Amino acid sequence: MGDIKRYYIETYGCEMNKSDSIDIALSFETHGYKRAEKVNDADVVILNTCAVRQNAEERVLGRLGYYRSFKERHNRNAVIVLAGCMAQERGRELSGLFPEIDVVSGTYHSMEIPGYVEECCGGEGPLIAVDRNVYRFSPYTGERAQGCRAWVNIIKGCSNYCSYCVVPYLRGPEKSKKSEGIITEIKDLVADGVVEVTLLGQNVNAYGKDINDITFIELLEKINEIDGIRWIRFLTSHPKDFNEEIVRRISSLEKVCKHFHLPVQSGSNRILNLMNRKYTLDLYRSIVEAIHKYTPRASITTDIIVGFPTENEDDYNQTLDMIREVRFDDAFTYIYSERPFEQARTMQAKVDKDTSKRRLQELITLQRGISCEKNRDEIGKRKSVLTQGRSKKEASELLCRTETGKMVVVNTKARAGEFIDVMITGISGNTLRGAEILYRTETGKFDNGDPGRLFSNKGMA
Ligand code: SF4
Repeated sequence: MGDIKRYYIETYGCEMNKSDSIDIALSFETHGYKRAEKVNDADVVILNTCAVRQNAEERVLGRLGYYRSFKERHNRNAVIVLAGCMAQERGRELSGLFPEIDVVSGTYHSMEIPGYVEECCGGEGPLIAVDRNVYRFSPYTGERAQGCRAWVNIIKGCSNYCSYCVVPYLRGPEKSKKSEGIITEIKDLVADGVVEVTLLGQNVNAYGKDINDITFIELLEKINEIDGIRWIRFLTSHPKDFNEEIVRRISSLEKVCKHFHLPVQSGSNRILNLMNRKYTLDLYRSIVEAIHKYTPRASITTDIIVGFPTENEDDYNQTLDMIREVRFDDAFTYIYSERPFEQARTMQAKVDKDTSKRRLQELITLQRGISCEKNRDEIGKRKSVLTQGRSKKEASELLCRTETGKMVVVNTKARAGEFIDVMITGISGNTLRGAEILYRTETGKFDNGDPGRLFSNKGMA
């Protein structure tokens, strides 16, 4: 591989971790490293880990076992870095259990990892950096583009302390980035060809509350004015920081995608209170009503936890009722997972595993039926979609996303990063299938050179 050193990153967990991995990659590139296509070619392997659920941790522990034999059999000089939430939570303990770990870098130190790698080479024992420094936002702006899309971290950390969650303990309190820096970053991304940005935060709509700057909705309004941006998304919103006024103002922002991911977590006020979610179902309903009133075509998705300590059949049935009432477009569903630090682990009356599994399965079945019905309603409708990349299964198919966040598979010659119009022709699982009805080239001209002809019928089923 010559003298150039290569890095390889494995990422676990949420969008925030994926965004951190982009920064880790960019910091290695800045230090002269190149990305390894395969782990066997890597001089440095970084596991950017998640500690939110036990099964995510178990996967990483399995990988650490793999890297022990990797070092023994393949490359004994490879540097193994444990990064992210698990490193922050258990880095010291794990470096004792897994001697193959050379560097432990917690959530406050992502950008320093290349320096630690250089430092540890030639040193004795693992290098551990888990102290809580002042958090720095990424210095990489325009370079963060992933093709035509980019994720922009506008607020980090969380101050909510939901009783089932470790994030506030591992990523610290909310810290918003200055709006001026965000606007500059997005303009840089546009100059790099980005047309869609997703604003990221563990509690994205708390943006601005910790600093003397603009609010979340004012930030959306400013980004909406940036030339060249076509779609603006945001993840993840907390219902307590949403209200009718925000929804009303979003409805008039043409570039803000009408997709609201609003984790409800439970349909029982008693459980929401124990979860320390700081809202009631009535407040949640009022936001849903506002979404229907101001943005009737919007999609609403959610997160739901079953098996939270003390959850009884009545609480659980109320969650099923909530799903039937709101008719979410999709839901990410989980069984409560006991974690270090979080407060719910001390609650008595745990729900047994079989009951939790049964509840989860019933809930998934109910939601799948609703998602399927809602997707079927889309058949025969014309949608504008952003093409994202070729399907791994079928190269002639392109994966695209609608404004409302639904995935559409289309047989087309268009390239990733283009807006095309499609007719929804069917569904397959949770995915829509579409046929292209209009192909616009990168220059904005129609592929048949006839701007007056709106429908080419190319690819119609
Ligand atoms: S809002 Fe609650 S669930 Fe989300 S990151 Fe903060 S503490 Fe965790």
